[in-house]
Formats: sequence, C-alpha cells, structure tokens
Amino acid sequence: MALTRAEPALAIHGGAGTISAAALDLGGAAAHHAALRAALASGWRVLAGGGAALEAVTAAVCALEDDPLFNAARGAVFTEAGRLEMDAAVMEGREKRAGAVAGICGPRNPVLAARAVMEASGAVLLAGAGAETFLRTQGIAFEEEGYFSTQRRLDALRLEMARRAAGAPDTRSDADRHGTVGAVARDAAGDLAAATSTGGMTGKRPGRIGDTPVFGAGTFADNASCAVSCTGTGEVFIRHTAAAEIGARVRLAGQSLEVAAEAVIAELLAASGDGGLIAIGQAGPPVLVFNSAGMYRGYATAEGGFYTAIHREGYRR
Ligand code: ASP
Repeated sequence: MALTRAEPALAIHGGAGTISAAALDLGGAAAHHAALRAALASGWRVLAGGGAALEAVTAAVCALEDDPLFNAARGAVFTEAGRLEMDAAVMEGREKRAGAVAGICGPRNPVLAARAVMEASGAVLLAGAGAETFLRTQGIAFEEEGYFSTQRRLDALRLEMARRAAGAPDTRSDADRHGTVGAVARDAAGDLAAATSTGGMTGKRPGRIGDTPVFGAGTFADNASCAVSCTGTGEVFIRHTAAAEIGARVRLAGQSLEVAAEAVIAELLAASGDGGLIAIGQAGPPVLVFNSAGMYRGYATAEGGFYTAIHREGYRR
C-alpha cells in the first residue's frame, strides 16, 4: 500500500507516423483528434475511479488498437511478405513487472496478450508459435487475419514493394512508413505504468522485432524515475536504450523528465532515429516530445480536460 497520494496523470500517443499537415484534410484531422480523445477517456475513466495506472494504460491502448486509424492491431502495417506481425508490451513501475509479445497475429488486443504474459506466463517476452500456444489458454479474444487488415495498409505495402523493385528513393510519408500506439500513466497511489503496441514498420523483414516489446527501449516503467512509451525507428531506439536512458538521467543525474526526454530525442535524431515518446514521472505533468514532423498525441489533466495534437500546432481541448 502506498502511503502518499499522487495526482493522477495520463498521456497517450498514436505514433510518430503522422499524415503530413499538408495532406491531412479537416475530416482526417477531426477523426484523429476524436480517436485520441476516446482513448484518453478510456484511460482516464480508470484513473478517475481510483484505478491503477496499469489498468489505465491497458484501457487506453486497447481503444487505440481497436481503431484502424493507427498502426496497431486493427490497421497494423504489413511485412514484406504481406503478413501481420505485431509487437506489444506493458510494464508497471512499482515492482517492475513486465510482459510483452513479439511477432504475433491473433489476439484482438495485443496489449492484453502482453498483460497475460506478465501475469501468467512466468516469462517477460514471448514470441511466435510458443506465444500463440500460451495465449490460446488465456481466455483473450482472437481474430482472423482479415480483421486486422485494411486497404490503406495494403496500398502502402504495394507502393513500398514497387519502390524497392524500381530501386527508387524512399519518399514515403511518415504515415506510410510506420506508427505505434502507447500510453503512460500515474495513479493516485503514485504508481507508474506504460504500454505500447505496434504493427512495426511497413514492409519490414519477416521476424523483425522493433523497440516496442524491448523493455528499456520502447517501453519502460519504474516508480523511482518514470514510465515511457516510444514510437519511431525501432532499431535506433533499441541501440540507444531510449526509454531506460531517460529513466537513468532522471534517477542518477537528477535531470528533469523534460530535459532528459528532450536530450534523448535529440540524440536519437543525430543517429537518424526519427520519432517521439511520452513519459510521466513521480510528479508533474506528462512530457510528450518528438523529432519527427508530428506525433498523434494527447494528455488528460486532473480537472478532466483532454488535450490532443498532431503536428506542432497548439493542443486542441
Ligand atoms: N517503433 C515502431 C517499430 O520500430 C514503429 C513506430 O513506432 O513507428 O516497430
């Protein structure tokens, strides 16, 4: 039992793979804002009711996974073989329990699969056929591949494969290249949690696993420092242990969460890693930073306000 009460906080992202400001029409922007608000509402409902940060991030990520606008679960991007291989992770900061899945296709909500790994498998990360065998015993909903498949992602794959065949330069938009969803939260007991879910990179090599299910890279939570969920070029986030690096700077170097997050995001950019992250610490508001053109994102405040943004414009309430 935590002795102190903290101010609950929640932030979410729908990935750094944003449609460019020029290409995003009013309707498209409105749809993304509405989807972000719906996910904030799902997570905030948990926190407002005195629920745990772990439950809040799970609820918010489920809402984003269910929405085909984002590259996670329904609406996930395809591998170069035309298949879907999803990664997801969840971690809580009090005991640093964690669970993740990699390269799976089946569970309707990969984040719930990650929760099952954390709670019932004895492992931290399960992949492939062994993961599916375990998950089938966990009472979570499964779907056929067709449920996750969308025309928009098939078109993005077809264009990418044609580009590769022609040896043409990669001029794809961020939205056609990648995306992810994630959430971080602090509950009234002061516990932190993070969850992330993704289809990965469009046209990725079969078997490729990104940063999302790699703890300390794309997902991390530690009550002693912060909870972090990342989006972007996964390989660079892994090599720079992006999320853990922020935690270390906060815990050991005494940096503010904002300073640490900005420094790491700049370091990633210098290494050709584009993307962003959301983070929440023991106190204060969440931090939402990115070095890409945009990042679908939002946060909720204690007064119940929901704020969402896509590019570098101000937040919409
Ligand atoms: N980080 C994800 C991956 O590399 C992609 C993304 O967030 O856009 O799988």
